[in-house]
Amino acid sequence: MTDCLFCRMVSGEIKPDTVFEDDKVLAFRDIHPQAPLHVLIVPKRHISNLNELDDAELGGHMLQTAAKIAEQQGYAQSGYRTIFNCNDDGGQTVHHLHLHVLGGRRMAWPPG
Ligand code: AMP
Ligand code: ZN
Repeated sequence: MTDCLFCRMVSGEIKPDTVFEDDKVLAFRDIHPQAPLHVLIVPKRHISNLNELDDAELGGHMLQTAAKIAEQQGYAQSGYRTIFNCNDDGGQTVHHLHLHVLGGRRMAWPPG
């Protein structure tokens, strides 16, 4: 999808600040970080949102990648948060599935 921002990152047309990549996912720093660690993990194939996720292994891989990045970046023990925003009420603004990984500050609950 050439009009999708995250597909353009996966294809290399736009270069993100990549922290991890394998054959299934790309992980890069959010351009407007909401915490000292704020990484987005995206599948390499276009999936619009969590409603459209048809591959449980891929979903699990995204979550395990989040844990790996938190460990590598030094936030495994202090803690971190993972979030999938879905559609309008979930606060989704980019319609390519992505997992937020946030760490390095105390998170509020419930989320605003
Ligand atoms: P969401 O609101 O859950 O759809 O999250 C989309 C995220 O993408 C936001 O946190 C944005 O700051 C982030 N974002 C938008 N454009 C870029 C970009 N060019 N590079 C990195 N992150 C971006
Ligand atoms: Zn896409």
